Amino acid sequence: MNYQTVSYEVFGPVARICHNRPEAANAENELLLDELDQALVRAGEDESIRVVILGGKGKHFSSGHDLRSFGKSPARSTAEGMWAQEEKYFFDYCMRIMYLPKATIAQVQGGAIAGGFMVANMCDLIVASEDAYFSDPVLAAFGAPAVEVLIHPWVMGDRKAREFLFTGERLSARDAMAAGMVNRVVPRERLEEETLALATKIAQIPPFGMRLMKRSLNRTREFQGLRSALSANFDTHEFSHMTTEQREFNGGTDIVDRGRKTA
Ligand code: ZN
Repeated sequence: MNYQTVSYEVFGPVARICHNRPEAANAENELLLDELDQALVRAGEDESIRVVILGGKGKHFSSGHDLRSFGKSPARSTAEGMWAQEEKYFFDYCMRIMYLPKATIAQVQGGAIAGGFMVANMCDLIVASEDAYFSDPVLAAFGAPAVEVLIHPWVMGDRKAREFLFTGERLSARDAMAAGMVNRVVPRERLEEETLALATKIAQIPPFGMRLMKRSLNRTREFQGLRSALSANFDTHEFSHMTTEQREFNGGTDIVDRGRKTA
């Protein structure tokens, strides 16, 4: 399998899938999100793979959705088209990461911003390097209610999530660990090694046991209302793309203009 925008590496029972557009700070365009999803499906179906690491090549994990790529998409010229596009690329693909029946670890250096924040937080665990930071500036900079998957209060707690969203400020790796969002913080030069060591340890767990464990952990979140809350925010987010306030705030005159700035 040849990918143009992601890399796929295998270390025994561990697959490492990375955003691979370092020249664009790993911005997620349509091709990258398609390839990331295909690579995840491949790792999910490969019986020799037990743990998946999700990372980014180069300086950053990911700067988020590539607004130039998505903004140009003709699908975004109608509310229906935008809804369908965002549901597929930004919601369903994210849910697939969370529901992968194998352990997943996000390996984060540099920025994990907006869409990148969302993808990293779909993973079961996060290992971050000391230089890593997380941000979702969508509300503070664009006046729209966060990225499509409002995972924030589930991974950093309600109070911290409100501060994070209202200010749009960066959350450092250390602060993210204090908030419970990041599992381990390691020096940048040891990030790959430490993440792989953790993945290799987890890969010793028998695969069906892990599958059942994840099922129960995901169901616990569902009983707490995660699935309904995420779906509701998706709808709210889509509605925000259509409001007069958004049009005026972004200086756009049509849905495509607005979409360019707030994918
Ligand atoms: Zn959107």
